[in-house]
Amino acid sequence: MATDLTNPQTPAGSHTTGKVRPHQTQNEALLFEKSSPGKRAYKLPPLDVPAVDLASLLGAARRDQAAELPELSEIEIVRHFTRLSTWNYAIDLGMYPLGSCTMKYNPRVNELVARIEGLAEAHPYRPESLAQGILEVIDLLQRCLLDITGMDAITLQPAAGAHGEFTGILLVRAWHESQGNSRRKVLIPDSAHGTNPATAAICGYAVENLRSNSDGGIDLEALARQVDSETAALMLTNPSTIGVFESQIHKIAEILHAKGALLYMDGANMNALVGKARPGDFGVDVMHLNLHKTFSTPHGGGGPGSGPVACKAFLEPFLPIPVLVKDENGAKHWNYGRPQSVGRVRAFYGNTGMFIRALAYILANGPDGLRQTTEDAVLNANYIRHKLEDLYDLPYKTASMHEVVFSDKRQAAKGVKTGDIAKRLIDYGFHPYTVSFPQIVHGALMIEPTESESLEELDLFIEAMRSIAREVEETPEVVKSAPHSTRVSRLDEVQAARKPILRWRPGQ
Ligand SMILES: *Cc1c(COP(=O)(O)O)cnc(C)c1O
Repeated sequence: MATDLTNPQTPAGSHTTGKVRPHQTQNEALLFEKSSPGKRAYKLPPLDVPAVDLASLLGAARRDQAAELPELSEIEIVRHFTRLSTWNYAIDLGMYPLGSCTMKYNPRVNELVARIEGLAEAHPYRPESLAQGILEVIDLLQRCLLDITGMDAITLQPAAGAHGEFTGILLVRAWHESQGNSRRKVLIPDSAHGTNPATAAICGYAVENLRSNSDGGIDLEALARQVDSETAALMLTNPSTIGVFESQIHKIAEILHAKGALLYMDGANMNALVGKARPGDFGVDVMHLNLHKTFSTPHGGGGPGSGPVACKAFLEPFLPIPVLVKDENGAKHWNYGRPQSVGRVRAFYGNTGMFIRALAYILANGPDGLRQTTEDAVLNANYIRHKLEDLYDLPYKTASMHEVVFSDKRQAAKGVKTGDIAKRLIDYGFHPYTVSFPQIVHGALMIEPTESESLEELDLFIEAMRSIAREVEETPEVVKSAPHSTRVSRLDEVQAARKPILRWRPGQ
């Protein structure tokens, strides 16, 4: 244990004790401040061909003054960006317990497969006859995801979870319209991710709030009262955002279907279900998956996302165009001739690089490996729950799936909030958990370890959380003023949101 309480750890992810922070030197001036006139990162040989007249080539588009960019040598630029990267946190540095985000490890074998030349260089304008390899990858991934979800048809086009929701609700709307009715509203539980109401609204629906019961789940009687001939769908996350499996889901589906409404499942939490339970078997009509959560493709700043949408057969005619089909010789083609389609939602094939990585992950694990992954993810979350529930308040006692949600109730009595604890966690070398979500839990601490973490890493995390709980009792100021080990500490989050400075301007 460090004697200096404000500085128990070295930089992000290192989990060691000490005060030395190797990258913090006087050499930290901003790139722009280091600029000195005439420095260049390159040197070109003299021209050995006739010079092109830029004025005639570019016309009015030509700048008459050089851009005011910093002038630096190559090594200064390399060091600047490398140094910046060490001030950040990443899944490759340590655990990232960000609940509802499934920040799992991105296996290196995925990267290897994605770099196979024929796949990496497949051009979207390549004729179908020369693109059969990548079309096979798409077809195989589609079939794997249909197997995993128990659904009938799928599109890989959407570029993220929220985009998948949008596509899925467009299918719902198109189907209702094809039935000659234009229903008006979508029901959304109060525990939902913010993208759900945003999706319903952007698809032209009124959002009606559904209150959770005391277990954090759907109250069947309240649902039966609320569903009527104006209800287009219920958007439901299962397991819910408090990590609880909605065990009545088949009954929820029955209530909706009896009134002609559909069940949309937000599948962002599929890491708790893969290989165990299939939404297609428990009454879901349409759902999205997050390849960048459940299927190990890079997440956040690490790469583009992918949010495939799977549906039951009756929604298939409405899927975005084009749809992959096979001819009698087994050759694959894109079919555009689909009069009921909602249209395109993404250029070309979607984020193909993510399909390759997700397929590599699925095939490397196989059915048994995927099931094991789910079991380990749930086990890890429950291990953390068990090891922390004596110190942190657990508002919902229902069994946890892949994540556990505590509240800051006990620490708040000492004036320390969930955001303070999260910031203190940074000093211990961990990325913060999800703060203040879901909103049905006041002062939520939402923790999702995923299956990637070893027992040793989980124990370090637990130790950090227990140590912070002790600090809250003994030296709460240390927690309230955290983080102490980062480049910047508490930023003005309001100003950052209202008046963001997003680009450098000369002279500022
Ligand atoms: C992450 C998440 C989404 C949105 O997915 P994005 O890929 O970030 O757009 C939607 N719902 C839930 C429950 C999520 O956790």
